[in-house]
Amino acid sequence: MPHGKTKIMTTSQQAAPDADMMTAITANITDVRTRIATAHASGNTDIPALVAVSKRQPDDRIEAALASGHRLFGENRVQEAQQRWQHRRESYPDLTLHLIGPLQTNKAAEAVALFDVIEVVDRPKLARILGQEMDQQGRHLPCYVQVNTGEEAQKSGVLPEQADAFIAQCRAEFGLNIIGLMCIPPQDEEPAMHFALLRTIAQRNGLSHLSMGMSSDYEEAVAFGATSVRVGSAIFGARDG
Ligand SMILES: *Cc1c(COP(=O)(O)O)cnc(C)c1O
Repeated sequence: MPHGKTKIMTTSQQAAPDADMMTAITANITDVRTRIATAHASGNTDIPALVAVSKRQPDDRIEAALASGHRLFGENRVQEAQQRWQHRRESYPDLTLHLIGPLQTNKAAEAVALFDVIEVVDRPKLARILGQEMDQQGRHLPCYVQVNTGEEAQKSGVLPEQADAFIAQCRAEFGLNIIGLMCIPPQDEEPAMHFALLRTIAQRNGLSHLSMGMSSDYEEAVAFGATSVRVGSAIFGARDG
């Protein structure tokens, strides 16, 4: 179900959040968390994690989320993430950063150095270079394979019918620690069948993590077994640019 209107109107670029911004971001995070908990079928699985997608958001909103205690963030561009997070790492050693956007091989080294989880492994050439970089840097990060469940030409991700072989190759040939799958369903389709497909592929490959669901559909994703959701605008409001 679509999320309620977020409570943020300003696009202030100031670093320090004012009191209204603090209140709004904290309320949004609390609201999203509550909705996640409600959608989560009571069972033996943990409450899904909330990856706050901070891409293209002004600094005061990031600071507000940090001040409210949130520490898990997602970014889709390496360079932008470096600018936003590298210096904050020192003040917030408990930060966890997920890369959720397409990764070029020439950015793999920087991605491995900055992020804690890579959600976008989607082709052998990238997987090989990530494996080499992780060895070289001694940072064996947990990874997700991105699956193009809608088989859209413009979208990254391995095709569903190639997923099993690619996952096996990532593990055996490239030495990657694949822990889960990630998908971005087509905008003009019901996401449910895509979430269900991702879950099926994960189950038959022994993968326990499912990154699925964004601001417009995270509650549904949770109902389909998401273990983490990637929520941006429902927390921070509309993005710059
Ligand atoms: C931007 C982005 C999101 C967050 O989108 P919202 O609709 O703002 O929640 C989630 N996942 C990916 C891969 C993204 O690029």
